[in-house]
Amino acid sequence: MKLDATDLRYVSSEEFRVLTAVEMGSKNHELVPTALIVQISGLRNGGVNKDLGELAKRNLVARVRNAKYDGYRLTYGGYDYLAMRALSKRGTMHSVGNQIGVGKESDIYIVADSEANEMVLKLHRLGRVSFRAIKEKRDYMGKRKSASWMYMSRLAAQKEWAFMKVLYEHGFPVPRPIDQSRHTVLMEFIDAYPLRQISEVSSPGKLYSSLMDLIVRFARSGLIHGDFNEFNILIRRSTGEPVVIDFPQMVSTSHTNAEWYFNRDVECIRTFFRRRFRYESNLYPRFRSAINRKEGEEGAKEGDGEDFRLDVVVAASGFKHSEQKMLEEYMETMKGDEDQESPHPDEEEDGDLPDDEAIASERDVTQERVGPKLDASTEGRGLEATARGSNL
Ligand code: ADP
Ligand code: MG
Repeated sequence: MKLDATDLRYVSSEEFRVLTAVEMGSKNHELVPTALIVQISGLRNGGVNKDLGELAKRNLVARVRNAKYDGYRLTYGGYDYLAMRALSKRGTMHSVGNQIGVGKESDIYIVADSEANEMVLKLHRLGRVSFRAIKEKRDYMGKRKSASWMYMSRLAAQKEWAFMKVLYEHGFPVPRPIDQSRHTVLMEFIDAYPLRQISEVSSPGKLYSSLMDLIVRFARSGLIHGDFNEFNILIRRSTGEPVVIDFPQMVSTSHTNAEWYFNRDVECIRTFFRRRFRYESNLYPRFRSAINRKEGEEGAKEGDGEDFRLDVVVAASGFKHSEQKMLEEYMETMKGDEDQESPHPDEEEDGDLPDDEAIASERDVTQERVGPKLDASTEGRGLEATARGSNL
């Protein structure tokens, strides 16, 4: 999805008020009735209709008709706009550059602050695949089902932010978290190649053990990454050191299936090293011994036990257990459904579809992961584009 940043500058303050009203209304309404938008915005009816027309032209809202009434819903573009505007008002982000990654559930952009320092903006897109499938199985969203894609994407970003902060503060090799708004996380740009793109390393054994050590270090702090694979491990261009990214699926070592998640992370690394580097080792961490800290080891010291359980620290940081649970269930369900999902490319935005179907049609669910362009030929392009590019 393109972030049409040039448009972003030309949203008037009144249009912004209307857009915010649509966002607020969508907390309780799948489809926000125009009358409610008028009421929330506190503006005149005629003005609001004109503003909604303008916002719809720019794809910040979409007009939807259902059986009962006409209304509007916020689009991803509108939600992106609101998040970026918030970041820019706070002064953490100033301009948008190139897109460097498209995941199934996120878009990654190079952005910059007012001094042209590059950063990464991750926009979570949990509604990219249809919600209908999971709704059929179970009502995960409860009363919030109306805002499911917004809500789940925001939860993913908030969770990622909470974990990234705690990990960074405790010296783990993760990007420095900078700011968070709605479904987005702003973080340090790591000049690196994803492990996936690396065909040769000078010492596979050394990298292998540093990655296994990281898994163990996570576990000793009460955490399991949960998606520890060649896509989510970046190798610094300068030093060859690994940096771990992508945290929405992290779980505590107290989780019922902790051992299973732990083994999956370990297995991902073993399999990748076997296939890519023909490297195999009999040494790999086991869950039980990883979580049983020995006397005198890091994290086992008297008095810092509390502090060291980072799962506890994250829980205390305000990310509610119930929300974690909901996100986790969603993610697990989506994993299971990955292959069965079909895209809905032909459905009309402005048709009389139920809202969830309209949302599904918004995203191309067949989108492939594109590798980030970090090779020499594209080096620095993000920054150039940012410098030339669109200010918010
Ligand atoms: P997803 O949830 O879609 O997998 P990720 O957080 O794993 O999203 O990011 C997708 C890709 O974007 C990564 O594989 C990486 O190449 C790039 N990327 C993400 N964060 C950063 C960062 N902080 N610095 C540099 N590249 C990044
Ligand atoms: Mg990833």
